[in-house]
Amino acid sequence: MLIKETIQEKAYELGITFCEFVPADITFSAEKIQDWYSQGYAAEMKWLEQNIDKRTQPSLVLDGAKTIIVCGLNYWQIKPERQGSIATYALGRDYHKVLGNKLKTLCNFIEDLGERTKYYVDTGPVLERPIAELAGIGWQGKSSLLVTKQYGTFFFLGEIFTTLPIECKSEKHTNFCGSCSKCMLACPTGAIVTAGKVDANKCISYLTIEHKGAIPLEYRKLIGGRLYGCDECNAACPWNKVAKTTSEQDFTPRNYPSARDILYMTSEEFSTTFAGSPIHRIKLERLQRNACIVLGNIGNKNDIDALQHAVKSDNEIISEAAQWAIGEL
Ligand code: SF4
Ligand code: SF4
Repeated sequence: MLIKETIQEKAYELGITFCEFVPADITFSAEKIQDWYSQGYAAEMKWLEQNIDKRTQPSLVLDGAKTIIVCGLNYWQIKPERQGSIATYALGRDYHKVLGNKLKTLCNFIEDLGERTKYYVDTGPVLERPIAELAGIGWQGKSSLLVTKQYGTFFFLGEIFTTLPIECKSEKHTNFCGSCSKCMLACPTGAIVTAGKVDANKCISYLTIEHKGAIPLEYRKLIGGRLYGCDECNAACPWNKVAKTTSEQDFTPRNYPSARDILYMTSEEFSTTFAGSPIHRIKLERLQRNACIVLGNIGNKNDIDALQHAVKSDNEIISEAAQWAIGEL
């Protein structure tokens, strides 16, 4: 068996959904990233402007890199109903750990062959969607997400950079969005400003996860019942009609408290409840800020006691969000 098929077979044994290859000497133009950044669309995500050389010349990520192995892990499943919706990707265990462990096992196999490796899961200076596009996996849709014919859009991407030469070619996948613009129409805040360009300042995913300050007033009502992240552009994509429920046990939805109960949580309770979840990284303060916005939008009079409790928070952002929510109710 060729090394390519051996690696794919090992990847599938580990539960990885797809595994493709692209030469590491591909390059990208810095112009598109710099243009997006100079328009302020990256919001506070300053790290995206760093390491432009590695982002545009992936072979710089690992000295002597010959191949990039692009792996995807399906996470689609039906979301449980709850007060305060959580993006599908965050229902279970943190994907950085789940996919990261699988990539680490693949790296060990490659290193046993005497080669070097370096892997990333949604971290590091890696333009993962454009790389996956050149590996022929799918195309960057108008939502900016990677769309595939076989698996839809609900999957995580991870990349292994390796010195192992593997026969493969760089071939950009055809874009099959056509005249569709369902993702753009579905976006509650109009964050997809033009095809393939998302303004993070307006994106609910950014606002509820990355954004550290108060949620700007203009977006509070539009956040609706979304406590953590947003699935709308993903869910609107018609290519997801092929999506199958993930078989990854680690992504089994966890039983998290309601938005109302989150407002009564202590730091210790938060750490225990959200340990190992991607939600853990936004910390209790940001989650309570989000819970106030959610209750202001979808709560009722029974939630006022929880919001009054939050008004007394030492954290001004939580206290102000709770006052706003009480006003809405
Ligand atoms: S995640 Fe939500 S808010 Fe962000 S671009 Fe997609 S639909 Fe719009
Ligand atoms: S919803 Fe339509 S336009 Fe958006 S990414 Fe999917 S196919 Fe492309």
